[in-house]
Amino acid sequence: MSETGFEGRGVIVTGAGSGIGRAAAGQFARQGAKVLVVDLNQETAEQTVKQIEADGGAAWALVGDLSDDQVVEQVKATALDAFGRIDVLVNNAGIMDRMSAPAETDDAEWERVIRINLTAPFKLTRAVLPTMLTAGRGAIVFTASEAGLRGSAAGAAYTAAKHGIVGLTKNLAVMYRKQGVRANAIAPGPTMTGIQVEARPDAHGPGVIGSMMGANMGRMSTPDEQAAAIVFLASDAAININGVVLPVDDGWAAV
Ligand code: NAD
Repeated sequence: MSETGFEGRGVIVTGAGSGIGRAAAGQFARQGAKVLVVDLNQETAEQTVKQIEADGGAAWALVGDLSDDQVVEQVKATALDAFGRIDVLVNNAGIMDRMSAPAETDDAEWERVIRINLTAPFKLTRAVLPTMLTAGRGAIVFTASEAGLRGSAAGAAYTAAKHGIVGLTKNLAVMYRKQGVRANAIAPGPTMTGIQVEARPDAHGPGVIGSMMGANMGRMSTPDEQAAAIVFLASDAAININGVVLPVDDGWAAV
């Protein structure tokens, strides 16, 4: 096996029907992984699988809402059925908030964003951990965000969720460092994907953070550029990298 190869390995990628997740699923498959493509959207999940198969790779689709506990269990069971092992989990699926400042964030916005962006990745991680711990190896990669590093990149709910992902990444790294399971995250800057921002027309947030983002954000990246960092962190080349949050942001975090 090559240093960064994934021949024969089982990889789960959430949100793999679009954007960063689709790019990551493709890159893992090209390196020999068997990939479980998980997404809410049946059509786009199946398209990702078709693209991988057309490229000569192996992939399966699992369609469902990851905020549903039953779907979380199905993901684990389907992965074990399909490839008999789980070497890598990429917790990538996510949604934007409405750029609302804390005082204008209602319960529905808060709960939806925290449930999908923080609770669902936690629950899926908890579901696959026993398999990884029994195997004595595993790599978990989260797609955090620049909003996990600073307060000026999104609304209150998304910022809190992504900071939560950063904390979870570090806690996993500490808890399982002696048992062969690593956890890392990427923190993308702005990336050309299908993610939708439906900012509240009356939101205080965009006016405040817009003036701070400006030129600091750097260039817009491609999903493949983000995916390359995910694949690296999941690979054996990163065997000594654990608990890291890697900005993939053209230097935004350095400003
Ligand atoms: P995207 O919308 O193109 O892809 C996200 C995918 O996740 C979609 O296919 C969607 O159907 C799926 N998804 C959403 N909620 C789901 C759920 N409950 N269950 C199952 N699947 C679900 O967006 P993207 O930009 O590729 O987003 C991937 C990750 O990158 C997200 O966590 C996002 O927060 C993060 N991110 C994106 C950017 C950016 O600029 N695009 C920047 C920083 C972080």
